[in-house]
Amino acid sequence: MTARSSVSQVEIKGQALLPIVAAMKLIHSRTQKILAAHGLSAIDGDKWYPMSRALEVYEQIRTEIGPNTTKAVGRKLPDIVGLPPSIQTLEEAFGFIRVGYQMHHRGPGSIGSYHYEAMGERKGRMVCDNPYPCELDEGILEAVGEKFRPKDSLWVRVEHQPGSCRKNGDSACSYNIVW
Ligand SMILES: [Zn+2]
Repeated sequence: MTARSSVSQVEIKGQALLPIVAAMKLIHSRTQKILAAHGLSAIDGDKWYPMSRALEVYEQIRTEIGPNTTKAVGRKLPDIVGLPPSIQTLEEAFGFIRVGYQMHHRGPGSIGSYHYEAMGERKGRMVCDNPYPCELDEGILEAVGEKFRPKDSLWVRVEHQPGSCRKNGDSACSYNIVW
């Protein structure tokens, strides 16, 4: 019997779920404050904003709240931004991240990018040379991996390749992806 089936009849009282809601609310209000401090209090999805402000916001979230929250934001990104229905497989989805990024960023100047390369059966590598934090991309890759995990794979593992990392001032991070 798996852990999941053994608790399938168990119920939880809503009261015990309220702390989750409260915790999210706390982060929400802090996040709103940080956004407001950078002139992003009322974001219009169709308008364009300076990327530098977004980077400042991410830097403040990382230092004041923590890198796990940066990663949590990344994990929400694919669903909120959306992927076209034509994307069906994991590799298509990883390949599409570059296109999605280009749809949501514009120059002048280099905006950086995402470079996905298949490395063999059930293996790939993503090189991120955009200015966003390492943890944000890690969250994005994990979320996309979970969303498009093939039915015959138990997991999609995203591992940062040792060496170059934007956290250390390098221009790119590479992530090995296995499923
Ligand atoms: Zn990195």
